[in-house]
Amino acid sequence: MELIHDVKARVFKFGNKKADGNSSMKNLLGGKGANLAEMCAIGIPVPPGFTITTEVCTEYNLLGKEAVIELIKEEVEDSIANIESSMGCTFGDKYNPLLVSVRSGARVSMPGMMDTVLNLGMNDDVVLGLIKKTNNEQFAWDSYRRFIQMYGGVVLGMKPASKDDVDPFEEIMDHLKDKRGIKLDTQFTIQDLKDLVYDFKDAVRKQTGHSFPTDPWEQLWGAIIAVFNSWNGDRAVYYRNMHGYPAEWGTAVNIQAMVYGNMGNNSGTGVCFTRDAGTGENVFNGEYLINAQGEDVVAGVRTPQQITKLGSQRWAELAKIDEADRLENYPSLEELMPSIFEELNGYQQILENHYRDMQDMEFTMQDGKLWVLQTRNGKRTGAAMVKIAVDLLKEGKINEKEALLRLQPTKLDELLHPVFDPKALKRAHVIAQGLPASPGAATGKIVFFADEASKFKNSILVRIETSPEDLEGMNVAKGILTARGGMTSHAAVVARGMGKCCISGAGALNINYKTRTFTIDGHEYHEGDWISLNGSTGNIFEGKVETVEPELSGEFAEIMDLANKYAIMKVRTNADTPKDAKVARNFGAQGIGLTRTEHMFFEVDRIKAMREMILADTVKGRKQALEDLLPMQRSDFEGIFEAMDGLPVTIRLLDPPLHEFVPHQLATQKELADEMHISLQAVKNKVAELEEFNPMLGHRGCRLGNTYPEITETQTRAIIEAALNLKARGIICNPEIMVPLVGTVKEFEMQENIIRSTASKIFEERQDSIEYLVGTMIEIPRAALMADKIAEKADFFSFGTNDLTQMTFGYSRDDAGKFLPVYIEKGILKVDPFEVLDQEGVGQLIKMGTERGRSVKPQLKVGICGEHGGEPSSVEFCYNTGMDYVSCSPYRVPIARLVSAQAAIKEAMR
Ligand code: PEP
Ligand code: MG
Repeated sequence: MELIHDVKARVFKFGNKKADGNSSMKNLLGGKGANLAEMCAIGIPVPPGFTITTEVCTEYNLLGKEAVIELIKEEVEDSIANIESSMGCTFGDKYNPLLVSVRSGARVSMPGMMDTVLNLGMNDDVVLGLIKKTNNEQFAWDSYRRFIQMYGGVVLGMKPASKDDVDPFEEIMDHLKDKRGIKLDTQFTIQDLKDLVYDFKDAVRKQTGHSFPTDPWEQLWGAIIAVFNSWNGDRAVYYRNMHGYPAEWGTAVNIQAMVYGNMGNNSGTGVCFTRDAGTGENVFNGEYLINAQGEDVVAGVRTPQQITKLGSQRWAELAKIDEADRLENYPSLEELMPSIFEELNGYQQILENHYRDMQDMEFTMQDGKLWVLQTRNGKRTGAAMVKIAVDLLKEGKINEKEALLRLQPTKLDELLHPVFDPKALKRAHVIAQGLPASPGAATGKIVFFADEASKFKNSILVRIETSPEDLEGMNVAKGILTARGGMTSHAAVVARGMGKCCISGAGALNINYKTRTFTIDGHEYHEGDWISLNGSTGNIFEGKVETVEPELSGEFAEIMDLANKYAIMKVRTNADTPKDAKVARNFGAQGIGLTRTEHMFFEVDRIKAMREMILADTVKGRKQALEDLLPMQRSDFEGIFEAMDGLPVTIRLLDPPLHEFVPHQLATQKELADEMHISLQAVKNKVAELEEFNPMLGHRGCRLGNTYPEITETQTRAIIEAALNLKARGIICNPEIMVPLVGTVKEFEMQENIIRSTASKIFEERQDSIEYLVGTMIEIPRAALMADKIAEKADFFSFGTNDLTQMTFGYSRDDAGKFLPVYIEKGILKVDPFEVLDQEGVGQLIKMGTERGRSVKPQLKVGICGEHGGEPSSVEFCYNTGMDYVSCSPYRVPIARLVSAQAAIKEAMR
């Protein structure tokens, strides 16, 4: 492996308002490391530390533990010495010890997916030093037992064997709690904590066969290696695959001086957001806990308190807690520690202004001193993403182009999902309320275990609290409901990142995993029962609540208008019915790029005429059946032209193999024979005759129109007559008639002749005419190769990348599901090429086809109508290839519009 930078720079220091790195170095230092460096440099109080680069992780994967330790040993020792001098204490010292945290940090945030160890450097001597230093014996022993617990789990592999087993350390603690008749960790006495440390170490010895390491340096190297290993842990790999992050990225390791939120009632820890991550509202918000350490807030075990007074009041209202109770038991940080709050409020403004984006920050107060541990661009829902971008634009913090580039196209999808029907909501019965952790409407059947989320088609995952192991199940479920945890609990943060509806902290739920039930006020709900969640209000409903289509309005509409301003490439839609065409127009479609006419023949009243056409033995018989189909097709086209009202509409001639239309079951074959007054045997013979070994490569596409020209004639007549009828009503439409599956020039020519002569005949009959185009799909590799010859005849090209992918890879569209998942799992393919365009291979054919076509006809109109036309990376490729438009399903139109604008902006910046 070749490394890019100087061999010395494997470790980057930060602290005391100075740093080796900065925020532009995310790929090397990871997001967390780069931001820690940047924060130091702009004067935020960050505990000093250093970052081991992501490249070292890759080196570790190649070279192994010993070699990597050798490579970085000197730099790590020097960096620890640097922390020691700035904090005035010594690593492993028994009088004045330095303890450190060891955290992972990839270039993108992967919340909870990798490992962290806190309080590292602790042993039987150091704990005594910490007691002397802090004068807080309870805190010191508590830190020690937490360290053994975390280190044991993360580095020494002391974890529950399965989901039914308990954590070995938790088991020891539960045992002690039972013995002592106490419930909470905070009720442990100093002696209890000492006993726990002893018992924990004993458990480690028994389970691993080795004593717990006492040498701080041995502990440090163990933790560094464990963080590197966690990059390839199951959770991280699943998360990476879900988001398409490559294994080569690796994770950085951040080592920092520990500061303590659990040093008494003048200490605490929290998480805060500069704006609301669920709605995008411009309000500072967050949660904190007094006398607690890092993980306590996100783990959702204790109910955290709100940072601001406003947030606290809103929370109390939802939790039905009165003002006196709130002030006494759950005061906000603003009320409890006003000066710390003011300082934090100042930093959040500095940080948001500095990064010009919503920040998600972690902080700790140690004995009255505030430290900021981390900041990053906050994860947010699709709705928040749009609102924050529009607001930052209006506040003058970012410009229009930046606002557009900030948006993650696929997240717009969340805004296009159905919402609860307001009428149905009025009837719905609210059974409980929790915190509105991630907006959206979800309805499904209750499941209690993440690995069983796919048990039902629509499921709602109900947990006491979620953990990173539940990620896969959270992804599968329609919504997530937890009994514990606040707005920054694991469930809430992950759900918002996924854009999944989530309600957290619904305390009224009494969950029993054993019986797979939960009760609310004595009423029992079972696995498989339907419930519905409104993630925007926190309301939990009994049963199924109906949903309706969303509106494209407010900030969403503003951002789409902005996209139109910058987009050059147009976005059309694939629509087969007037209804789909209308939905797509609402979403801003600028025409139809593909109407698949065959879908019109599958409707009950039409399939009969279609079958008669197929079963006819003579041209006369076929023409008769086609006559019956003509008026139905014509009125379909009129509906579509009307819905698109003057925008271009591309209609494709019949494409699928005929056997798809004939009945394959005996009973339906009998029915058809009776209706047509022919023998059952005749029907059976025809079905057998149409049978093909490879129908996708068989008698389909223009091969149908060239063998049965009367089909093309009738379809052309339906299209042209529909356009003339609309013209008579004052609606101008210029149809674009598209010939499918062309591989040779002659195939196209023959179809074009039929189309043009039929149209001329109709113009003659009607003494009227319209403009129309005749073009072709490019979906057979040979067509891309012959594109210059075909373009001499064709008015336009539309790349059918579904078939083009099928035929370029030689993977059957219908059967690839059998091996593609294995190919992706084994890394033979990175992604499914039917979803994400294979730019490297199929892309070459598209580029070549476009270039060759335009070499003879420079103005040749070129588009795409395969499924890739709505997939962001493919849409960007289409723009860069010089296409005039992409065409995609109605619900992907806004996504494609945004990508079209982003691609044009990016090009202008190159
Ligand atoms: C294609 O092949 O990409 C296409 C749009 O046509 P169909 O999916 O109908 O074969
Ligand atoms: Mg096709």
